[in-house]
Amino acid sequence: MQFHDLGAQYQALKADIDRGIAEVIAKGHFILGQEVARLEEALAADVGRAHCVSCANGTDALVLALMLWGIGAGDAVFVPDFTYFASAACASRVGARVVPVDIEPDTFNLSPRALEQAVERVEREGRYRPAVVVAVDLFGLTADYARLEPIARAHGLRILEDAAQGYGGRMNGRNACAFGDAAITSFFPAKPLGCYGDGGAVFVDTAEEAALLRSLRANGRSETDKYDNQRIGLNSRLDTLQAAILLPKLRALRAYELDRLNQAAADYTRLLEGVVQTPTVPEGFFSSWAQYTVMLPYGTRRERVQSRMREAGVPTMVYYPRGVHQQTAYAHLGFCDDAYPNTLDACARVLSLPMHPYLTPQDIRQAAEALRACVREEA
Ligand SMILES: *Cc1c(COP(=O)(O)O)cnc(C)c1O
Repeated sequence: MQFHDLGAQYQALKADIDRGIAEVIAKGHFILGQEVARLEEALAADVGRAHCVSCANGTDALVLALMLWGIGAGDAVFVPDFTYFASAACASRVGARVVPVDIEPDTFNLSPRALEQAVERVEREGRYRPAVVVAVDLFGLTADYARLEPIARAHGLRILEDAAQGYGGRMNGRNACAFGDAAITSFFPAKPLGCYGDGGAVFVDTAEEAALLRSLRANGRSETDKYDNQRIGLNSRLDTLQAAILLPKLRALRAYELDRLNQAAADYTRLLEGVVQTPTVPEGFFSSWAQYTVMLPYGTRRERVQSRMREAGVPTMVYYPRGVHQQTAYAHLGFCDDAYPNTLDACARVLSLPMHPYLTPQDIRQAAEALRACVREEA
């Protein structure tokens, strides 16, 4: 079995994907062609947000959102310590100060209490202005916006929803990519909504913000005069080919892939209850299961479990082995382990199992059985 099975998905959607690709090539409009605008409209409607502006990848989408708000030197950007590095690097990229914050032990998402403490510390120190919190929807589960929003409001912070892994999830009836002051997603192939290369998008509420993002993704060009550049931006656009590939994939995600992912997760959880710590989905939340990540019992030799499972034909991954605060790129900032107990515990014990909409019940049983045998052997 595969960890992510893009081949099985392609077989299911082949006719539509092949037709979309052929049409783009026939028309020859490879940059910002019709399919890009169609996809942006479809995505905005799908998540229930006024505007979607696509770009070259999720990392750029984060940077574009911070550029939109003029975030830079002197600003503090709060990010969960346990995430893919891009959630933090975007802040450094625009010259702001990154402040990693510990996570919740059960959902792996940003801890509202730790956020409040971090913001108050930065306020007291007075060197940086608390400006943005990047709230990551890790592994497909939306962050706890009901608890993050009042903190952001009280301290004048903007919320940037990093839904690179969160597309398709929801909380209290509201879709991922509709939270915060802006949201981003990624179309990296292995994400819940992936293309066949790199891609990303920013979601905003107003036409003014969307227009500014369209300028920023095209080297800051003017809306009316292609060769008048009004600001410094990026060259960061979604290829028309990728938009054509994403249109049928978006339909499949909503039509049946999300249901299958949730069925697979429920099956795993039933088979693994009491063997490992299974993922928590709190009341009111719906996950798009970018990863199915368990916590191994204390003392389990994870590398050994991984090699045993590989021998049994079950690929596994460790997302993530270290926190943002431990990254070499941030060694000069002198972050201290003491503030991140939950991240450190997760880094030491997490294990992600094969997860995609085309897993069979036999695959799930095989993976769960292999993990159960390894954990028993380790005990
Ligand atoms: C993948 C990912 C990104 C970056 O997306 P790319 O398209 O790979 O640049 C940002 N944040 C999170 C949480 C991610 O998982």
